[in-house]
Amino acid sequence: MNIEKNRILFVSIVGAIIVAGFLVTSLTSYFVSTNSAKKAILNNELPLTSDNVFSQIQKDLFRPIFISSQMASNTFLRDWLMDGERDERKMRKYLYDIRKRYSAVTSFLVSEKTRVYYHADGILKKVRSDEPRDAWYFRVRTMKPEYEINVDPDMANLDTMTIFINYKTFDYQGGFIGATGVGLTVKNVKQLIDQYQKRFERTVFFVDRKGNVVLHGAAYSGPMHLSERSGLREALPVLLESSGSMHEFQSEGKSFLLSARYVPELNWILVVEQSTDRIMDDFRKTLRESLVICAFVTVLVVLLIFWMVNSFHRKLADMALIDGLTGAANRQSFSISFAQALAHVRRKGEPMSVAMIDIDHFKSVNDRFGHLTGDRILQDIALLIKTRIRGWDTLCRWGGEEFLLLLQSADLDGACKVAEQLRIEVHARPFGKPDKPIHITISVGVAQYRDGDSEMAITERADRALYRAKENGRNRIEREIV
Ligand code: GH3
Ligand code: MG
Ligand code: MG
Repeated sequence: MNIEKNRILFVSIVGAIIVAGFLVTSLTSYFVSTNSAKKAILNNELPLTSDNVFSQIQKDLFRPIFISSQMASNTFLRDWLMDGERDERKMRKYLYDIRKRYSAVTSFLVSEKTRVYYHADGILKKVRSDEPRDAWYFRVRTMKPEYEINVDPDMANLDTMTIFINYKTFDYQGGFIGATGVGLTVKNVKQLIDQYQKRFERTVFFVDRKGNVVLHGAAYSGPMHLSERSGLREALPVLLESSGSMHEFQSEGKSFLLSARYVPELNWILVVEQSTDRIMDDFRKTLRESLVICAFVTVLVVLLIFWMVNSFHRKLADMALIDGLTGAANRQSFSISFAQALAHVRRKGEPMSVAMIDIDHFKSVNDRFGHLTGDRILQDIALLIKTRIRGWDTLCRWGGEEFLLLLQSADLDGACKVAEQLRIEVHARPFGKPDKPIHITISVGVAQYRDGDSEMAITERADRALYRAKENGRNRIEREIV
């Protein structure tokens, strides 16, 4: 019982160690890989997207800035302004030509003297300092740099979000005479944003410095102000005020990684964001799979160990009960068989006998043919006896070349018959090699169980009978004297 408990404990400990080992390695690799994947996204992939979008914007802006600067220094344009803005059709033609040639969305000129807003299709309006939509002009006329980039809805173009290049133009004495330039839509940037959205499942959008989403792709489904993202509220001041920042946050049950970068040309912040749920799902799937493998391997190893321990145990038990040379029972297991047979006798009232078998002159067999041959003869005799007795009889190696046979349901006569049969067979059969046959004989003493007999009492009587068989010339059986 104790051994059984120890065995289960041992197998459980081994199983627990394997499970613990698997858990530690699986979880460690899960956390290490999720962390490094997150780091790769934050440090490389999102900034790369941001760089690409940023350089596309620069590319988009470079040409219109150049065109606008050409317009601002154009002699016709300046002369026309200084000459009193006569023949508005000429200016319209010029602006139309510029817009067409450079495929801009719009081209414009605002005169400082008259405050008239000219564009390719005619006169749009007069700019007024008290009109918020005209604020740009009054900012431009007093600013220091030659030009600015401004993003506004274009009134001349159904209020489409447009990037304007507002260039100052001067007369030949350097006096400010107006603002001119072109506008372009953010179509190209939007296309790029959509491309990223589709290809990498990354969301790209721009926010102004107050956190309002000002430009996004077609698939954008987030809120129009960043503060509406619950997990991002705390990070918002850093995101909006620093030149670049990275954030990890949760919103509506999803995890996100976000990279923000200030674009001074636009005074906007470029945001690239990616949900980590899909890669996390992949890692979780891998974790689940490795845990299933772990369970499988653990069960397999535990079963294997259990089987090994059991068979080892069985072997040990056999070694304790069976004679190694002949495979017959040893004395200890004979005692167990004897006790069981005794219980049977008492229950059923059937007879039981024992036969003490001793090989004659075995010493000289050993001397003449060697110990190994002697051993083989012992094995052969044991095998012969085993094949001649019934399943419930027990053959025991009692000593060196002595065997004790326990014959159940056999009285003295029956046992003597069995013993005599064995004696005849051994006598008749040659042992050893066919070309060098060795003739062996046995002597047997037989005794029957009597009420109250102990194992020792009955074997002693059988031994005494055996002694007489030896005395009387060997190769014979003798029964106990009743
Ligand atoms: P007898 O019984 O006829 O009186 O003569 P014996 O020579 O058989 O009797 P004895 O008891 O003098 O010798 C028994 C011999 O059996 C001595 C021993 O070397 C041999 N013997 C005992 N055990 C083994 C064994 O395991 N292997 C071999 N080869 N010989 C054994
Ligand atoms: Mg002997
Ligand atoms: Mg002998």
